[in-house]
Amino acid sequence: MNKLLIVGTVAFDAIETPFGKTDKILGGAATYIGLSASFFNLQSAIVSVVGDDFPQEYLDLLTDRNIDISGIEVVKGGKTFFWSGLYHNDLNSRDTLVTELNVLADFQPKVPQDFKNADVVMLGNLHPLVQSSVLDQMETKPKLVVLDTMNFWMDCALAELLEVIKRVDVITINDEEARQLSGEYSLVKAAALIQAMGPKYVVIKKGEHGALLFHNKEVFFAPALPLEEVFDPTGAGDTFAGGFSGFITQSENVSFENMKNAIIHGSNLASFCVEKFGTERMVGLEKKEVLSRLQQFKSLTQFDIEL
Ligand code: AMP
Repeated sequence: MNKLLIVGTVAFDAIETPFGKTDKILGGAATYIGLSASFFNLQSAIVSVVGDDFPQEYLDLLTDRNIDISGIEVVKGGKTFFWSGLYHNDLNSRDTLVTELNVLADFQPKVPQDFKNADVVMLGNLHPLVQSSVLDQMETKPKLVVLDTMNFWMDCALAELLEVIKRVDVITINDEEARQLSGEYSLVKAAALIQAMGPKYVVIKKGEHGALLFHNKEVFFAPALPLEEVFDPTGAGDTFAGGFSGFITQSENVSFENMKNAIIHGSNLASFCVEKFGTERMVGLEKKEVLSRLQQFKSLTQFDIEL
């Protein structure tokens, strides 16, 4: 089985949307990526850090999905990373209310020996120096390195972020962050500028408006499935990244053509994530639901025009 190494936060989140409010619940970029990638045939491991305030039952949710958690360090007496967000009425934009790095502030990641030869590395959202350190520890060159990040790191660690971006093949980023990183409003121009920073493939996520994949002069677009109910978009971007990197790991094919399929898998999984608060929907999700919605995706985008 191919191996996927995942790096990112494992966190407590407090979320407020127009539909309700949660206290501290399970969150974190690596959590969503891991849950999403677990729908593929692969071995995965998470490298992250939590404090000893982090409930064992949350860690068990990950092991139940066959995710290797030996790379999640538990810091005695430490407090877990905490993030709190408030969504606006359209659910497409949000304000970060609190980001407490806590144990993440001086985290030195350790990649489990078994995953130093991972086929794909998914560098989820956290400090760019941690992302770099994970790449430094790889003993064989991964077939693909994917990076996800957000405005927080552009604001407080831009130089380090630009260094790690040079080393990756694919970057997944949302539209506002692509504009911030490139200083360019047009997403086509932004993608070209970001490609010049290193990644040959740029995925720009546009929430309910789908995702764009750029490579040289080529562009591919995948819509988001129109959903009746969206409760909480938290983690949708990470779930997308987990589906994207999970499918590439399983299929062992890093061509542009196959990345188009990976984008569809990512969008498909993300469409479930937003249906309930936090990780609730992903934890209860079954493979048959994933496959049946994939069929809906196909019908949504297929047409038969004679040219
Ligand atoms: P998304 O909605 O896909 O952007 O991801 C939301 C998740 O990212 C939440 O579960 C947060 O715990 C996590 N998160 C929020 N801010 C950061 C940050 N600055 N670094 C790493 N992870 C973060």
